[in-house]
Amino acid sequence: MKTTTRVAVIGGGVVGCSVLYHLTKLGWSDVMLLERSELTSGSTWHAAGGFHTLNSDTNMAALQGYTITLYRELEKITGMSCGLHHVGGVTLADSQERFDMLKAERAKHRFMGLKTEIVGPEEIAKIAPVTNIDGILGGLYDPLDGHLDPSGTTHAYAKAARMGGATIETHCKVTQTNQRADGSWDVVTDKGTIHAEHIVNAGGLWAREVGAMAGIYFPLHPMEHQYIVTDEVPKIAEIIDNGGEHPHVMDPAGESYLRQEGRGLCIGFYEQPCKPWAVDGTPWDFGHELLADNFDKIEASIDFAYKRFPALAEAGVKSVIHGPFTFAPDGNPLVGPVPGVRNYWSACGVMAGFSQGGGVGLMLAQWMVDGEPERDTMALDCARFGDWITPGYTLPKVIENYQKRFSIAYPNEELPAARPFRTTPMYDIFDQMGAVWGQQYGLEVANYFANSDEPRFETPSFRRSNAFAATAREVKAVRGSVGINEVHNFGKYRISGAGARAWLDRIMAGRVPQPRRISLTPMLSHQGRLIGDFTISCLSEHEFQLTASYGAQAYHMRWFLQHQVAGVDIQNVSDSRNGFQIAGPQASAVLQACTRTDISDMRFMDLRQMTIGVVDCLVQRISYTGDLGYEIYCDLPSQRALWSCLWQAGKPHDMRPFGMRAMMSLRLDKFFGSWMREYSPDYTAAETGLDRFISFKKTADFIGRAKAEAEQKAGSARRLCAFEVAATDADITAYEPISLGGEVVGFCTSGGYSHHAQKSIALGFVPTKHAQEGLEVEIEILGQMHEARLITTALFDPEGTRMRG
Ligand SMILES: Cc1cc2nc3c(=O)[nH]c(=O)nc-3n(C[C@H](O)[C@H](O)[C@H](O)COP(=O)(O)OP(=O)(O)OC[C@H]3O[C@@H](n4cnc5c(N)ncnc54)[C@H](O)[C@@H]3O)c2cc1C
Repeated sequence: MKTTTRVAVIGGGVVGCSVLYHLTKLGWSDVMLLERSELTSGSTWHAAGGFHTLNSDTNMAALQGYTITLYRELEKITGMSCGLHHVGGVTLADSQERFDMLKAERAKHRFMGLKTEIVGPEEIAKIAPVTNIDGILGGLYDPLDGHLDPSGTTHAYAKAARMGGATIETHCKVTQTNQRADGSWDVVTDKGTIHAEHIVNAGGLWAREVGAMAGIYFPLHPMEHQYIVTDEVPKIAEIIDNGGEHPHVMDPAGESYLRQEGRGLCIGFYEQPCKPWAVDGTPWDFGHELLADNFDKIEASIDFAYKRFPALAEAGVKSVIHGPFTFAPDGNPLVGPVPGVRNYWSACGVMAGFSQGGGVGLMLAQWMVDGEPERDTMALDCARFGDWITPGYTLPKVIENYQKRFSIAYPNEELPAARPFRTTPMYDIFDQMGAVWGQQYGLEVANYFANSDEPRFETPSFRRSNAFAATAREVKAVRGSVGINEVHNFGKYRISGAGARAWLDRIMAGRVPQPRRISLTPMLSHQGRLIGDFTISCLSEHEFQLTASYGAQAYHMRWFLQHQVAGVDIQNVSDSRNGFQIAGPQASAVLQACTRTDISDMRFMDLRQMTIGVVDCLVQRISYTGDLGYEIYCDLPSQRALWSCLWQAGKPHDMRPFGMRAMMSLRLDKFFGSWMREYSPDYTAAETGLDRFISFKKTADFIGRAKAEAEQKAGSARRLCAFEVAATDADITAYEPISLGGEVVGFCTSGGYSHHAQKSIALGFVPTKHAQEGLEVEIEILGQMHEARLITTALFDPEGTRMRG
């Protein structure tokens, strides 16, 4: 056995083998896979082998699309069969809401270039004749859906990897992973120790145990899952005898997926009475066995399926496959460099290995070999969860995710499991004031405040929700007088030390401000992609506060620590610093009433240390609402005292609390982008207009400089623009296609209703040549085309007189 390797991939399921293959494909041949038994000895061998592109996250859909197209490549390279059946698949809709969702998906596919189609009930009866179409309104047909042979495919990955120089060691159980001082790893196995520069955890069902060997908690959990294979079904046999194949049918109402298997059918369920497996850890002696059949938990699902697919009742059960596989709390894989642990990579939590395994392998290999993946990975980046996550949170979230696997995913939906979990000191005060809560990165945030005669629950919907009136009230309060909200959903970092300024000059593309001033800056990757959108506050020559998205904390800290140098101290203070933002024309009056410091000379983008009531605060004159406003930061234990003082001072001005729904509406008035909507690693500073905050004048060789300069010279091919949309009851959420003269030329990044301007607004990309005031386009919302016009003048305070005045 080899005793040194550049990469040790732990786990020979479909995911580990895909990672291994992709590493060789990108040029790393000194790579090794360690498998405790035979390849496929985890979830992989008993998978149903189905694959599909449909995913409500666009990047996940693209990753699934890549995986599916890869199989032919694998067959060609290796000469092995993956047992591919590209039979197509149809997802059924039996309610208008679900049909709306499928239409919204179809709209996204139009700009992604996927050839899906909305089909009516008669067409469904024709293409999928085992379906009883009673009550079906229509469906979404995807010609790329299909199934394969899980074992054959895994072995094809393995063979392709071996052909690229990789080594595979089976019957080689990893028992310890010990890091050396230089960041490399001693991987201890029952066959000896291997010295590896990098480790990839592709341990699947045992990923938790493998992670624990390095002291890492991976937030995933195995769930039991069951599918049934029938004897011959006459209708299927007839199709086969006529040279055809039956397509997959996903029936979300019945929480089932169905496909042809031999001359019969195979049907699996995501049942509500689902069961987690191996709660206290996956036994090491589990392998090629199945779990005992459990018809009780799928009884209701089977009854439903017999009605939807009557042919099932005609055939006997040939076999039952009941096995475990793992989920992360949101159902997406956990991929990428593990924050805070050098040279340790995650490739686990992959619940649909045959739809996603190829893309996961490619993305991880790009990250390891090229330094960054080619697309935005946030949906599957293991850094989307912070170190706040616990097994106690993961388990109910995983159960919730399993149960909602086939539910409609609404853009405004807040999922209830394991909540409230993390709260700020304001939780009970805001709760008494009628807060309707959402969750961001584990933290409760007020979405809006309901009046006492309004429900304390926002109805999930693709259309304008019951939060509309409350949001309008809060927007009116801010624009008309003054509103208050916490600054809890900012990630906050304290950067200090003699080298702090120079370090910021290298990490951030923008200007680093002088003491008592603030600046805005993009943070770029080496390839010039947007990886952050920061506010820098200079507290003193050697001390700075950075603020950015709360949800990107682990992502940003990982980057900071990877680039940390001597003389710079970096601390994540997101949860130990909080406070409030006040915004609106009366914001200065409220603030001045609370402090003896004269704030009349505070200019836009100034900051001051001052005492407010009894609390020492950092006050910044800036507001994401685009209005006159202040962000006021204090230590967490002082937050309620600060609240009392501000709330008292706000009373004469009828100050109101406002939530995230109002915030998202207010920012639209000024066309302000938002992290992971307009600003993400899929886009560049020039495309989004954030290049106006890049300091090309500064001498520092900031990360991404060469790429940003080149793009500035050449100009970007597309441009982020704002549109006024002739929408009536449903606004833009994200990824709706933008058409010009009947041709899709762009897509939306986000949008919503501007309560101040009383207009529906979209933000989105179009080719730069079209990005001109007055451009008339059409935007598809829920299957309907809506006229839209490109606008360049902000809907509120276009001259910035209120914000700066
Ligand atoms: C009933 C059922 C049906 C399914 N149907 C589908 C489907 O239709 N389509 C689809 O895409 N997905 C399906 N899945 C999910 C699919 O099986 C998983 O997504 C996939 O197998 C995950 O692969 P993996 O490589 O991450 O993990 P695993 O297959 O669990 O592989 C992990 C490997 O790591 C090895 N290992 C662990 N610890 C160590 C160690 N310490 N040392 C060495 N080796 C170690 C294990 O032996 C194992 O071989 C289904 C799952 C089930 C249970």
